[in-house]
Amino acid sequence: MVSNISFRPWWHENLPALPQLDSRFPENADVVIIGSGYTGLSAALTLAHAGRDVLILEAGSPGFGASTRNGGQVGSGNQKFRVQSLIALYGREKAKALVRAGSEMLRYIEDLIESESIVCHFKKVGRFRGAVRPAHYESMARDMEDLKRFAGVEYFMVPANEQRTEVGTDIYFGGSVLPHDAALHPGLYHRGLLQRVLQSGGQLQTETRVTGLTSNRSSFDVHTTRGVLTAGEVLVASNGYTGSELPDFKSRLVPVGTSMIATEELPEELMLDLMPTSRVYGNTARVFHYYRPSTDGRRLLFGGRIRRLVAQNSSSAYQHLQREMNHVFPVLSGYRITHGWSGYIGYTKDVLPHLGCHNRIWYAAGYCGTGVSRSTWFGHKVALKILGKDEGKTVFDDLPLSPFRFRRAAPLGVVLFESWYRFRDRFYD
Ligand SMILES: Cc1cc2nc3c(=O)[nH]c(=O)nc-3n(C[C@H](O)[C@H](O)[C@H](O)COP(=O)(O)OP(=O)(O)OC[C@H]3O[C@@H](n4cnc5c(N)ncnc54)[C@H](O)[C@@H]3O)c2cc1C
Repeated sequence: MVSNISFRPWWHENLPALPQLDSRFPENADVVIIGSGYTGLSAALTLAHAGRDVLILEAGSPGFGASTRNGGQVGSGNQKFRVQSLIALYGREKAKALVRAGSEMLRYIEDLIESESIVCHFKKVGRFRGAVRPAHYESMARDMEDLKRFAGVEYFMVPANEQRTEVGTDIYFGGSVLPHDAALHPGLYHRGLLQRVLQSGGQLQTETRVTGLTSNRSSFDVHTTRGVLTAGEVLVASNGYTGSELPDFKSRLVPVGTSMIATEELPEELMLDLMPTSRVYGNTARVFHYYRPSTDGRRLLFGGRIRRLVAQNSSSAYQHLQREMNHVFPVLSGYRITHGWSGYIGYTKDVLPHLGCHNRIWYAAGYCGTGVSRSTWFGHKVALKILGKDEGKTVFDDLPLSPFRFRRAAPLGVVLFESWYRFRDRFYD
């Protein structure tokens, strides 16, 4: 039974105090960035390093969106599609370039954290992905081989009879390990990035919602809940939180809710039994779950879809997720849940992330749930584009960010798709 839990992300516990922010509302900026998640901060850092006067506007508190709520699993995004599916969709050369870009994103975030000395428990712990069907194990093995051939991705397969060396459950039919995937503390990563942006001269105004944009000849009037300011360039970095105030982007991004729970502190030996290699974990289901040890190694943090996101601040909303966790680890049924929280990820029509410029407004968004490395890299790349640099070119540039046809029906569509996917997870390969 889930009761008396905190609805704050576990990551928010014991975060260092926020840096002092200048609350005076500026009249203008070279570049205004809408949204203070990783996309916005990463772009701001690159722009500030290049000497641009950059201002981030955030509707809520700093990092209010997914960037301080996520699982802290750092991957390449290459597992969203099988390599063979990418080839069928985009051809061999483009598919190769796309998976290589995924690997580059992993390297980029690691280098950034090191070069900016961001203390956020970043560690290449590796990722274990459990097969929920015997056939998934075989197809995952083929896909891993393709990834290795295409992008030099290292991996190894773990057959079912050896899987206890990786994870303390027998529900999977073996799994794969990507040893170069990583884990970090999302809250500390966000704080660290923010600190570097401010130190480089960037500014952040919180509790300031952008309510509309008016395009002038060579600038924009940025309308906000605190007044109007002028910007040379505007970057939309609001991803899964994009609202009606940015209609061209809202129509192209669908918010999909995902949630996490944290257990109470567990005995050390139990933690070792459940996750002997302390990696980040997931499975091959369409409606998948993901989990990992907390950064202090004392709790299990488990994520997935909850059915009642509208009631995310009610304990009962998280019961379903707890049942799913107990299905993976029945031994946890005697333990309490202390935290439950939710957030929105941004989905695109082609399930690929996008960046570019639409009606003179820059954007980077749509990481479809693998946003820690992607948003960092996309933020950096779109900033290079704003700066007019060649290094801003990416393999994603010619992929159109298409509108959803029935965007208004998206909340219902997400629920219907989820039910259909759960049905297929249950009854089909
Ligand atoms: C529960 C959960 C678990 C996840 N786990 C993982 C994981 O383990 N690994 C992984 O790679 N990814 C994960 N993700 C996804 C990842 O967190 C996101 O893809 C990433 O943080 C996106 O960053 P962002 O900066 O683009 O958007 P966000 O961090 O969502 O930031 C957007 C911001 O824009 C602001 N905003 C919106 N509209 C306006 C406006 N009009 N004016 C001003 N501000 C505005 C919002 O308040 C918000 O703060 C998870 C997401 C969630 C919710």
